[in-house]
Amino acid sequence: MTSVDTAAENRELKRKVQALSSRNAKLAELLKFSRDNLSSLHAEIDQLGEPASTYGIFMGSVKEGKEAEVFTSGRQMRLKVSPNLYGQEFEPGALVRLGEGLVIVENCGLPKTGTLATLLEKVGDQRAIVCDQNGNESLVLLTDKIQTEARAGDTVLTDYKAGFAFERVEKTEVAQLSLEEVPDVTYDDIGGLAPQIEAIRDSVELPFSHPELYREFDLKPPKGLLLYGPPGCGKTLIAKAVANSLSSRIGDGGKSYFLNVKGPELLNKFVGETERRIRLIFERARELAGDGRPVIVFFDEMESIFRTRGSGVSSDMETTVVPQLLTEIDGVEDISNVIVIGATNREELIDPAILRPGRLDIKIRVSRPDREGAADIFARHLNDKVPHEGDIQDLIDAAVGGLFAPRPYVRLELVDGSVEVLNYSDFVSGAMIANVVDRAKKLAIKDHIAGVSTSGLTAEHLRRAVVAEQNESEDLPNTSNPDEWSRISGRIGKKVLNAEVIG
Ligand code: ATP
Repeated sequence: MTSVDTAAENRELKRKVQALSSRNAKLAELLKFSRDNLSSLHAEIDQLGEPASTYGIFMGSVKEGKEAEVFTSGRQMRLKVSPNLYGQEFEPGALVRLGEGLVIVENCGLPKTGTLATLLEKVGDQRAIVCDQNGNESLVLLTDKIQTEARAGDTVLTDYKAGFAFERVEKTEVAQLSLEEVPDVTYDDIGGLAPQIEAIRDSVELPFSHPELYREFDLKPPKGLLLYGPPGCGKTLIAKAVANSLSSRIGDGGKSYFLNVKGPELLNKFVGETERRIRLIFERARELAGDGRPVIVFFDEMESIFRTRGSGVSSDMETTVVPQLLTEIDGVEDISNVIVIGATNREELIDPAILRPGRLDIKIRVSRPDREGAADIFARHLNDKVPHEGDIQDLIDAAVGGLFAPRPYVRLELVDGSVEVLNYSDFVSGAMIANVVDRAKKLAIKDHIAGVSTSGLTAEHLRRAVVAEQNESEDLPNTSNPDEWSRISGRIGKKVLNAEVIG
């Protein structure tokens, strides 16, 4: 063989080796691809055979996306991410599905449901203080989506446990602050307050139903009234009945609006925020009043927010909040169908400017019922339609007797050394009577189910209900603070040094 032949053979062999090794590389690649494919198919098959999944909230990824911090079953855990999801973007706050062994197997996106909270304040770019309906505050993380768009005062969808606020929920602030409703309470539902009701009808309804006479006599209709007195005696009922009664006077099927604003819910510690909310409520009232229907703006627990300026009780907030309310009340002067009603247990705390002529200038005391009043209230809650035994009036009289029976509740030592004992009967309220009737009805139902032979509610049911209500009532003042007792027991007119609840 010549040297030329040998060289040619060598080249040929090299070419073959090259071709084979490139084929080999391709095969190796194919093998790897098939293996990968196979393992992901295996993973899918495994998933199909898995037990029911649990879910968690993705908090952040670690180890180049191969593991993640997840909040699940009430705790934070570090979990593996399924290889299928490597390289996929997870947004913090996203809901993730967890497969067997708590491996993250699916990204479900941001949760669509949760608890609503109010965003109080942003803390840096990524966190915020939110507050639930009971006023509990939490610090939560904000998802990317709401980091830019959410502002203080917004309603946000949250998961308190995971510590995330996911999205901003459109809900008008006025709807949050006031409950708009068409009340179905009438004056007939209210017991023991006939003189108060008469005074209100004269002052509010007359100008409403005869505006022309008021114009002719150049008499300004009242803009509002203040109902004051102890808790649970019918202030809210009266305000609702006013709204209802006014509506029946316009005769288009009787609709009226009742903006029920709870004083404490208006409060906001941010400068100017409470004022803005007051403005919004009156804006809404004017809007509703536009079609001629009566609009009652009812402020419950008014003293919580419209305190005497300079009293320093709740910082200096009053100095700007009170004038805002005054401006708004003055602003609805020409709108005859908007009436402002305030309710309070502490009228002495309310800024006097709010009670001047042209504002809430009609003050009506809604007192605790006496025996006669109590019987009248009982009659609104218990009538012949309820199955009962004997004469309904006798039952009511027995219940009133029970409520007013002398039973000591608190022993007060006064500044002059004397001792005064207040009885349960000193704290009777309409709310308590309504509760007594409800309790007695429940007892009657229980007896009926147990096969006790009565023809309905009995005097004994009412007697037991009175005792239970007195023992458990949340409306009874329960404070050991002597100053509070000096105020509550105002009829004594002497300072209380020591108070002991003995009932
Ligand atoms: P608060 O100061 O705590 O807001 P309130 O004076 O506004 O109390 P209401 O809300 O009007 O009290 O009364 C609570 C419930 O008690 C009523 O829904 C009603 O069932 C009953 N009630 C109170 N007063 C009367 C009353 N005079 N006649 C009939 N029911 C009454």
